[in-house]
Amino acid sequence: MKRFFRLAKDIAIKDDCRQYRFGAVGIRRGGVIVTSRNIPTRYPNPNAHAESRVARKLSKNSIIYVVRIDRKNNLTMARPCKSCQKIMKSKKIKRCYYSISNTEFGVLSW
Ligand SMILES: [Zn+2]
Repeated sequence: MKRFFRLAKDIAIKDDCRQYRFGAVGIRRGGVIVTSRNIPTRYPNPNAHAESRVARKLSKNSIIYVVRIDRKNNLTMARPCKSCQKIMKSKKIKRCYYSISNTEFGVLSW
């Protein structure tokens, strides 16, 4: 699991020059790994969120890891918003792990 959080963090780090840096990793049931980061938008738009973007590439029973990093590259709260949770639920994602801090994570499952 740490491995996937690390991968999500690497993706978030590459997401430069913006205030909110998110990285998401999705693991399909067969083990295929897909990734996404946030895309910049001028208005709040859950379709731009890394976790909903990655959810769209996934199928039933997949697992998502989503992290958010601050300016110093520490992991911070990345709990998916209500709209993203809805998208994940409708895609029948099994579980979503999200960062809370460098040493804590949370989990949502459906
Ligand atoms: Zn969201």
